Amino acid sequence: MLGSHGRLIPSCTAMKIRALPELQALERIIELGGSNLESHVVGKVELPGIGTYPLLTVAMGSKSRDAPAVGYFGGVHGLERIGAEVVIAYLHNLVMRLQWDSTLHRQLDGLRLVFIPIVNPGGMILGTRANPSGVDLMRNAPIDAQDRVPFLIGGQRFSAGLPWYRGRISTPMEPENSAVCQVVEQELLARKFSLSVDCHSGFGVSDRIWFPFAHRRAPIAHLAEVHALTQLFTGSHSNHRYIFEPQSLQYLAHGDLWDYLYMRACASTSGVFLPLTLEMGSWLWVKKNPRQLFSRHGIFNPLIEHRQQRVLRQHMLFLDFLARAAYSHERWLPLGEDRAKHHSQALDQWY
Ligand SMILES: [Zn+2]
Repeated sequence: MLGSHGRLIPSCTAMKIRALPELQALERIIELGGSNLESHVVGKVELPGIGTYPLLTVAMGSKSRDAPAVGYFGGVHGLERIGAEVVIAYLHNLVMRLQWDSTLHRQLDGLRLVFIPIVNPGGMILGTRANPSGVDLMRNAPIDAQDRVPFLIGGQRFSAGLPWYRGRISTPMEPENSAVCQVVEQELLARKFSLSVDCHSGFGVSDRIWFPFAHRRAPIAHLAEVHALTQLFTGSHSNHRYIFEPQSLQYLAHGDLWDYLYMRACASTSGVFLPLTLEMGSWLWVKKNPRQLFSRHGIFNPLIEHRQQRVLRQHMLFLDFLARAAYSHERWLPLGEDRAKHHSQALDQWY
């Protein structure tokens, strides 16, 4: 189902039968961005009798390999629409600012930004966490947890009819994940410095920023860099509400795509690639509006409009921070003794 690279062609719209509002919004933004954006179809998801949906990537900014880059991903779990919406809202913000904001143009001269706002359009149309084949895309990478994972939630190979299904053993990754890997490898890994953020919702009452590992408790090689990045953010946003932590502090899982890509980066380049996951704490929305509990969609998304607007506004700041941090990485990436200090502080804080 993976299509070849190519310019966005208008015919993908004609092939759709049931419309996906987030995809329509994304297509409008791409049109609005005009020649400032590069957009590609990196795959297609076909749902017989329902429609065909493109996997769209959008990129902007410097084409130089020396430029740092940030990747923004959303909609990996079809039920967590707010993740896609946050990424789309940020892309919209950038496209509108391109019309007047010289600081943004200056920044994009030395920075590349890449987006896949809707990784799992099939799951979004069907209202499922998994993709249309019943596979949980965050349990599907070829990587096994090294310590005990929670039953089912940590990933299972019993049945696609149960949640958290990893897919069949020794089969290629799902087309949606292949598309993400292709974009990450082409756009992010071959650089001196890159960041990514994958936007999810549904875990607990607090907003969390997770970094690898998810498959083991051991610290990553770039713990000092992650620690320095979190200090930058907390130091300059004193009223922030995020909990920064390795995912392994909450639970371990098989098949985590970002662990897989992080390890590929470590094996193949000398550059720094820090993949982050934004987990928006949607139980808070349920607490404020308990009726949401009775809607499956409502557990993962703020159903009241003013709350949704606030959620979108709030996280945009973090997404923009990542662009600034990547652009400015030479000013803050720790070296030598400073790096050792960050590493040991991080060990005390998280391990
Ligand atoms: Zn998720």
